[in-house]
Amino acid sequence: MKSTICIVGTGPGRLENMTLEAHQILQQCNVIVGYQVYVELLKPYFSGKEFVSTPMTREVERCRLCFDYALKGSKTALVCSGDAGVYGLASLMFELKLAEPAFADVELCVIAGVTAANSGASLLGAPLNHDYCVISLSDRLTPWETIEKRLVCAIQGDFAIALYNPSSHVRNGYLKKACAVMLGAGASPGRACGYVKNIGRENTAVSVCTLGELAEKQADMFTTVFIGNSQSFICGDRLITKRGYSI
Ligand code: SAH
Repeated sequence: MKSTICIVGTGPGRLENMTLEAHQILQQCNVIVGYQVYVELLKPYFSGKEFVSTPMTREVERCRLCFDYALKGSKTALVCSGDAGVYGLASLMFELKLAEPAFADVELCVIAGVTAANSGASLLGAPLNHDYCVISLSDRLTPWETIEKRLVCAIQGDFAIALYNPSSHVRNGYLKKACAVMLGAGASPGRACGYVKNIGRENTAVSVCTLGELAEKQADMFTTVFIGNSQSFICGDRLITKRGYSI
């Protein structure tokens, strides 16, 4: 019988943010593999499972472990926060399956999750209600020149933007650099923006500001930043991007 690994997006944090399908799959499996922080969040909800975790930057090892467990006969789930196909490990799992003959017969199934752009958007109101794109500021796997080009093109195309990985200990100042790039590409300093910290976790915080102000804000690795398009507006503590209806 073929073994299957389910690659499960668990949403931003709280159990209520997980899809019913993701919850059912995790209940059915016996091994749950993931990044330490997310595995700790899941432990209280799924008793009796074997939990396996590796730290940040050990993603390839984490994925290989999933294949090892599956080939030994365990019903294995690889968990990623948000959606596993948005800066998650879904693609790496398919790459490994292709690269390693021993993994070729393992089936992979991907279970959708609510990504931070969407869960964060709901807390801000409706910042992504027209064409939008998602850009990660992490240059760990992508050259900064490429990130900069994507920021410029997104502004030139008047997309609303959700920025992931806006900052970390080693990438301090990247949000400020990104703001300068977007301003240089023609976005006005008054452009409506917002950011959400710790979506679906303790200490959730929602804020709005202009693009000019955003450069000085402190983002961390649990912050998702939203840049409105040229028509977006701030309404109290909400950030709204119009769909274009006449009222
Ligand atoms: N697969 C994840 C994204 C992983 S990249 C998803 O689909 O959501 C990690 C980045 O996602 C973080 O730096 C942050 O920008 C964003 N993020 C993930 N979870 C978050 C949360 N609970 N609150 C705020 N931002 C979050």
